[in-house]
Amino acid sequence: MKNNEDIFKKVISHSKEYGFVFQSSEIYDGLSAIYDYGPNGIELKLNLKKYWWDSMVRENENIVGLDSAILMHPKIWKASGHVDAFNDPLIDNKDSKKRYRADTLIENHIEKLISKKNKEITKASKKFGERFSEQKFISTNTRIIEYITKIDLIKEKFNSCLKSENLEGLKNLILDLKIVCPISGTSNWTDVRQFNLMFGTNFGSTNDIESKIWLRPETAQGIFVNFLNVQKSSRLKIPFGIAQIGKAFRNEIIARQFIFRMREFEQMEMQFFVQPGKEITWFNKWKENRINWHYKLGIEKEKLRFHDHEKLAHYANAACDIEYDFPFGYKEIEGIHSRTNFDLESHSRLSGKKIKYFDSKLSKSYTPFVIETSIGLDRMFLLIMCNSIKEESLKDGEKRIYLKFPFNLSPVKLAILPLTKKNDLPIIARKIYDDLKTRYHCVIEEKDSIGKRYRRQDAIGTPFCITIDNESPHDNKVTIRNRDDMTQDRIYINSINNYINDKLIY
Ligand code: ATP
Repeated sequence: MKNNEDIFKKVISHSKEYGFVFQSSEIYDGLSAIYDYGPNGIELKLNLKKYWWDSMVRENENIVGLDSAILMHPKIWKASGHVDAFNDPLIDNKDSKKRYRADTLIENHIEKLISKKNKEITKASKKFGERFSEQKFISTNTRIIEYITKIDLIKEKFNSCLKSENLEGLKNLILDLKIVCPISGTSNWTDVRQFNLMFGTNFGSTNDIESKIWLRPETAQGIFVNFLNVQKSSRLKIPFGIAQIGKAFRNEIIARQFIFRMREFEQMEMQFFVQPGKEITWFNKWKENRINWHYKLGIEKEKLRFHDHEKLAHYANAACDIEYDFPFGYKEIEGIHSRTNFDLESHSRLSGKKIKYFDSKLSKSYTPFVIETSIGLDRMFLLIMCNSIKEESLKDGEKRIYLKFPFNLSPVKLAILPLTKKNDLPIIARKIYDDLKTRYHCVIEEKDSIGKRYRRQDAIGTPFCITIDNESPHDNKVTIRNRDDMTQDRIYINSINNYINDKLIY
C-alpha cells in the first residue's frame, strides 16, 4: 500500500471481502451512507462497545447505564434546539449539480493551506539539518508569514460568518477564495441555504402534521429527559454520569468516506452531571480521561490530537474534539462538550416539570451542569480498521495482509487448526474448542493448507492460531502461532488458556 489513498481503498475492499462491512441493500444498488456489519464486523463492534461500556460503567462507581427509546416526544427536539438549529449550510454547483456543505468547502481550503505551510517547514528542516530552528524559521521566513496571515484572516472571516449565521458571507468567502467544484472545476455556485438534518416520520395511523415525530439525531436527549428517573431510582449524588449506547440518525448532506459519515449510525455517549461552577474542571478531567482511553488501545500519540472549538454550539461554554489522522486527514472521532445547564433547563421550561437536584452538602437545589463525552461507534470502528491494516513481504516473496487489532478487540481470539483430518486430530480440535468457547470467540478451520489458513486468520486479525499435528495425540502439545511476529511456541494443551490470558491485554 503505497499511499493514504491506497490504504483507504484497501480498508474498504478488505472490509467487504472478510465480512466486516457491507453496503446496505446492495442487491438493490445500495442505499447511500447506510451500511450493514457482517459476522466479523459485528464482533469487532461488540468488543468496542464492551471496551467503552466497561471503561465508563464498570470502572466508575458513579456512572450508570441507560437504554432510552429512539422515538421520543416531538417537543424534546423543540426544547433541545434541534428543530430550529440543527442545520448545515448547503451549496450546489450549478454545472455538476453536486451538493456540498459550504463550511466543509472552506475548512478543506484552510487545511490545504496549512499542509502547504507545513511542507515548506519540512523542506527547510531537511535542507538545514541540525542547524534548523523551526521557531526562528516560522517567525522570519516571508512565505511562511504570508501563509499564516492568510490562514488567520480566512479563519477569522469564516468564524464570524458561522457565529452570525451569515449565509451570504459564506458564499462570498467561497467565491473570494476561488474554491471550485472538484467535479466541474467551476465556481458557478448557488446561494447557501440551511438544511435541517433530522429524519422525520409519522406516529400512529394518521398522516397529519400533528403526528410528525423525529428519529433521534443524538442519544443525549434520552439521558436528559430521564435525569430525575435515573438519579432518584439509583440514589445518585452529584457528580455522577449516565452512559448510553444507541442508534442516531442524521440526513447528512454529503455522505462520503465509507462509514465515516453515515445517515444511520451508533453513538456512545456519557452525560456527567456536576455542580454549577465546577464544569470547566470536569471538562478538563474528561478530556484527559478520553484521550487516555484511545492511547490505551495502542493508538500512536502523534495520530491523535485535540481540536478546541472556536464556534461553540448554542448549548456549550467549552467544547473540543479528539481527532485522528485518517488516510483522508485529521478528522473528528469524539466530542467533549461542556453543555451548561441548557438542556435540563429547556426541558423543564417546555414540559412545565421541575428538574432540579437537591445538594445535601450545600443545602440547596440547583440545575446541574453537564459535561458530555460523545463518540461515534462506527467512526471508532473505521479508526481501528485504518490503524490496524498492515501489509508485509515475507521471505518467500509472498505478501501477507494482517489486521493488527488490539487483542481485546479482535473478532476471533483463537483459531484451532488440525493439520489433517486423520489420527483423531479433529477430535482433539473439537475438545479444545468446547473447553474454550465460552471464554473467547474461537473457530475451527480444517480446510486448505496450513499456510492458507494462517493467511485467512491474519486477514481478520486473529491473534492466535493453534495447530494440532500428528505428535499432539502423543505429547499433548500444540503449536501456537502469534499473529504479529509469526513466532511459534510449542505448549501443553492444558496451558492454552493461560498463554492467551496473559496476552489478552489492551
Ligand atoms: P461532524 O462535525 O463530523 O458532523 P458532529 O460534530 O456533528 O460531527 P457530534 O454531534 O458531536 O458530531 O456527535 C458526536 C460523535 O458522533 C462524533 O464525534 C462522531 O464520532 C459521531 N457522528 C456524528 N455524526 C456522524 C455520522 N453522520 N456518521 C457517523 N458518526 C457520526
